[in-house]
Amino acid sequence: MKFMLCSRLIAVLALSLCCVAAGFAADGKPAGNPFLQTVRVAPNLEPAIPHPEQDAEVRAKLERIKAKTGRAPNILILLVDDMGYGDPGAFGGGAAIGAPTPNIDALASGGLKLTSTYAQPTCTPTRAAINTGRLPTRSGLTRPILTGENPKVNPWADEATAAGLLSEAGYRTGMAGKWHLGEAIGTQPHQVGYDEYFGILSVVSEMSQVIDGHLYPEIVNKAERLAKVKQIASTLVTRGLRGQPTEVVKKMASIDDLSRMDQMFADWSDGFIRRSAKDKKPFYLVHAFSKVHNDNYPAPGYAGKSPAGLPYKDAVVEVDDIVGRLINTLKETGQLENTLVFFTSDNGANEDTWPDTGFQPFRGGKGTTWEGGVRVPGIAYWPGTIKAGRTSDGLFDLTDLFNTSLALGNAHEKIAPTRYIDGVNQTGFLLGDNGESARQAVFMYSENNLMAMRWQEFKIHMRVFNTAETRQNIDASTIAVTGMSPWVFNLYADPKEQRSSGHRYFEWGFPVVLSMMGAHAATFAQFPRKDIGLSVAR
Ligand code: CA
Repeated sequence: MKFMLCSRLIAVLALSLCCVAAGFAADGKPAGNPFLQTVRVAPNLEPAIPHPEQDAEVRAKLERIKAKTGRAPNILILLVDDMGYGDPGAFGGGAAIGAPTPNIDALASGGLKLTSTYAQPTCTPTRAAINTGRLPTRSGLTRPILTGENPKVNPWADEATAAGLLSEAGYRTGMAGKWHLGEAIGTQPHQVGYDEYFGILSVVSEMSQVIDGHLYPEIVNKAERLAKVKQIASTLVTRGLRGQPTEVVKKMASIDDLSRMDQMFADWSDGFIRRSAKDKKPFYLVHAFSKVHNDNYPAPGYAGKSPAGLPYKDAVVEVDDIVGRLINTLKETGQLENTLVFFTSDNGANEDTWPDTGFQPFRGGKGTTWEGGVRVPGIAYWPGTIKAGRTSDGLFDLTDLFNTSLALGNAHEKIAPTRYIDGVNQTGFLLGDNGESARQAVFMYSENNLMAMRWQEFKIHMRVFNTAETRQNIDASTIAVTGMSPWVFNLYADPKEQRSSGHRYFEWGFPVVLSMMGAHAATFAQFPRKDIGLSVAR
């Protein structure tokens, strides 16, 4: 019986795919699948769901704002490192888990709360996706760049960042905080499109490993090894202006130094916003926190400030305070009603670093393509333009920030036809009073493996992460290919992805999903992947 069911499933899939591909009718039914809603407007642009009415509504809104302000809107992306979906109060955490987040919650209640925002499973890939609008498997930035490592090929040599394109369109573009997309000359923010940069090229744990002997005795207590790791570890706060050499701001030499980094970044972003307002220049600013990635050391005044009193929770409170500070800067400088603010995290909470970690009500965590690794808090906030109090589970992939930012800056036509762009323009979704997502599906990768996809409320796994131990998602997991039927979870009924209901309840959906996956796979034929040397042979 089981064999018959499976055979039938395969036959249905084969027939349906054939129909979609060839466009002829089977059994007298109309060709095509009514669930496939997208339109592809160019070979290198991801197909999107058309919403002409909401596009017209949003165009009129933006024209009204431009007539009032005389310039294009500002864009402020607040990117927290490793914050879990469930950390902010607006997403179920906050005071309930010992770290209230009133400022982040105010963005959610005053704007659009997105409950289906997707990042990549780790830091570098998500940052690459936001900057390029491309899945990391295309740019080659498929996994975090490690201590002392530089890709063999400069990934940026033939990439275009949103910052670079907006700079050409008259924006002042700034990058504050954690970069983690290359340390070599030619790969730093002010060398790949940003007008100004102030931050760290690596990640806080690359610094703490040569400082904190309690956490890293194997390095810090071994003088010879410590000296060598110090040679390759990036421990500097640096800054740079386009066309000028990188300057050292400060060497991070103590836990006290590390604890203050996010306040340094906040000071710089505060100044950047004030300068831009004074100069009447539209700006694009990516403020990328170092916190709440491990290792969290409370800034002066923050130790024990959270009810939980744990370093991670104190860091959440600090991040929330900085969010409040930067929103206040926008307000003070008269920019609040001319700025799209987007708040999010670059991946799920890192369960492997417990208790220095956050929370998500999903399976898995950072490093996996279970929802706990890739679903992140997302908030779009723009008083007067984004209707307050909206919540949507429409799909939003962080690659969409690329297209959406360019569209707001009238720079979308600057996208070159030579690179495939996975992001879609979501201005209609975010800004329309009842906006709907232009995105039909989210494709989820681990390095170059297509693991899963989200479509409607369903999550379909072609490959799955198996975790051997609780809270060991990165350090003790394996990847397995699913059997005859992909694993399918209804995320409304089973948000923790605990029991696949695959072939029994989703037979109708497989042809749609396989068709979308087929179209996705076909893009690689015309636009090949780049290999920059980060792939690990196994
Ligand atoms: Ca991260």
